[in-house]
Amino acid sequence: MVDYKKIGLVNTREMFRKAVSGGYAIPAFNFNNMEQMQAIIQAAVETKSPVILQVSKGARDYANPTLLRYMAEGAVEYAKELGCPNPQIVLHLDHGDSFETCKSCIDMGFSSVMYDGSALPYEENIRISRQVVEYAHKYDVTVECELGVLAGVEDEVASEVSHYTKPEEVIDFATRTGCDSLAISIGTSHGAYKFKPEQCTVDPATGRLLPPPLAFDVLEAVEQKLPGFPIVLHGSSSVPQDEVDTINANGGALKAAVGIPEEQLRKAAKSAVCKINIDSDSRLAMTAAIRKHLAEHPDHFDPRQYLKPARESMKRMYIHKIVNVLGSNDKL
Ligand SMILES: [Zn+2]
Repeated sequence: MVDYKKIGLVNTREMFRKAVSGGYAIPAFNFNNMEQMQAIIQAAVETKSPVILQVSKGARDYANPTLLRYMAEGAVEYAKELGCPNPQIVLHLDHGDSFETCKSCIDMGFSSVMYDGSALPYEENIRISRQVVEYAHKYDVTVECELGVLAGVEDEVASEVSHYTKPEEVIDFATRTGCDSLAISIGTSHGAYKFKPEQCTVDPATGRLLPPPLAFDVLEAVEQKLPGFPIVLHGSSSVPQDEVDTINANGGALKAAVGIPEEQLRKAAKSAVCKINIDSDSRLAMTAAIRKHLAEHPDHFDPRQYLKPARESMKRMYIHKIVNVLGSNDKL
């Protein structure tokens, strides 16, 4: 049993309380490797932002859970070395799919876990969420649960209105599970292909696809039911078109990749939304920088030559999100 507090991590409780009352959101960035981790920590330190390091099932399979856990421990020390005496870093399990997965992360030093039972029947979701919360709270680990289904990896079917979180269920769900935060579905979705072209309109000025707007009416109804309760948005990459263009100009073939406009995320961050998950934008920034570098330097073969600009590009993106979208800068 690893005590996350002994390795300098924090849970989300205080962080979310301040974010909700302060009208900003905490960045939750996924990481799978050292360069992403370095870029996230450098960005958080330079902007004086709290940060949530997220580990998904894919990351655990790719990198190994133990290595990721020690990287997060290293991240705390790295932040201090970079000049941040009291870094506010959460190590969070993204989309835990069972009680056992959540328990194993809690036991190895995660300070926060998500249990995602959103695809299960309502009562089953409550039962397992409750089980995770009871175990997690023994160790002061905070728990995010989910109600409502997102499109993308959580559901192959494109998001329909009926998949939005039902505001009439949230009081019952939050009360009976005891969860610390709630991920809701208001039209965001996972991945770089968030919407089918037929769901979008075409911007006449640029010819680019514009996604359908987020369901702010659902968010407002949830906030009325649970005033001040921390709300989480998944699938909130914006899929910057300049990164997509760079990828495609250098041998890539990303067709009709569309994300959530940053103005909408900024608006959400000012509400009870206190955690915004961003993963695909980091992948795009990394891939664009690597493709561009290798196209310009076909003789390079040392991974450091192309991973260095990739890391710098991700760092710029993280800083942009923190300062211009989430507003979590200058909070340490
Ligand atoms: Zn998610």
